[in-house]
Amino acid sequence: LAFSGLKIVALSGGVGGSRFVRGLRASAPGANLTAIVNTADDFTVHGLRVSPDVDTVLYALSNLVDDTRGWGIRGDTFKTMRALERVGGETWFQLGDQDLATHLRRTELLADGWSPSTVTAELTRCLGIRDVTILPMTDQRVETSVRLEASGEWVPFQEYFVRQRADVSIKDVRFEGIERAKPAPGVIEAIEAADLIAFCPSNPFVSIGPILAVDGIREAIDRARQRGARTAGVSPLIGGHTIKGPAARMLVELGHEATTLGVARQYVGLLDLFLIDPIDKAQADALRQLGMHPLVTDARMRGRRGEARLARVVLREVERRRRAGS
Ligand code: GDP
Ligand code: CA
Repeated sequence: LAFSGLKIVALSGGVGGSRFVRGLRASAPGANLTAIVNTADDFTVHGLRVSPDVDTVLYALSNLVDDTRGWGIRGDTFKTMRALERVGGETWFQLGDQDLATHLRRTELLADGWSPSTVTAELTRCLGIRDVTILPMTDQRVETSVRLEASGEWVPFQEYFVRQRADVSIKDVRFEGIERAKPAPGVIEAIEAADLIAFCPSNPFVSIGPILAVDGIREAIDRARQRGARTAGVSPLIGGHTIKGPAARMLVELGHEATTLGVARQYVGLLDLFLIDPIDKAQADALRQLGMHPLVTDARMRGRRGEARLARVVLREVERRRRAGS
């Protein structure tokens, strides 16, 4: 099997992250793969605990995901939402009928005293995912909120991201509860044992940012690198644009450049390799100056083959460096 025994850890958000994790699984079937997933987007709606990024990863890896949207379950219906509207419920956060089962079950298990990581392990098992370990970044509650430019008001992330469609300017991001958050069981161990730590093409501020802000995770990555683990990022921006979501806009609003270099600067001192699209190759030298070796290849993940191809470019370079001892 390709990349047999290689220990890979992927730091992931939702849509972009889950696709790259799926690419890693497809191109390294012999590897030991762990996804550490952002939970700072989690929130409670209709009394249900929803964990959007964990669910996107669960659905992507169990082939349930709606690949066009990138989230939710393929073929799902929204009858409950319409019925909910009829009885005066809020429906701005669309939850499919099948998707609701996941949130019902999570909420039930949490109420029974399970931790988010054991709930995730149970859902992983029930959905038949056997070749990837999925770990929430923490079992404690962390809640992203953003500060709106216009009013100066802090609003919960989903309110901005879904209700306002990220269509308003922000000037700050914070992760409430992050000081008290401990890495979930297995997170530090996986990082410490990893040969490759991949930073998926996820939003650097609201997907990867919270993971890196959990107590001890950065230090564990540093220790892993000191012992020879390689780290690789994949740019979520191509030619200054995102495929989906507000990352480009957030870069500008938070005072950075909306380029692949602007993303890389969020990861200074953390990455050995950074994958960028040929359209951005003029930034390769600047990446080298940040200490990152640029991997230039078509960065669009077109379908399953595209995801696997992108992952393979990273895996081959990591394997080459391991062999060369560089
Ligand atoms: P979310 O948590 O669902 O918002 O998703 P993530 O944070 O994991 O990923 C969002 C990012 O994925 C966006 O900035 C997209 O540009 C990026 N993305 C989506 N599809 C692709 C792709 O095909 N290639 C690359 N390089 N990035 C992608
Ligand atoms: Ca997310």
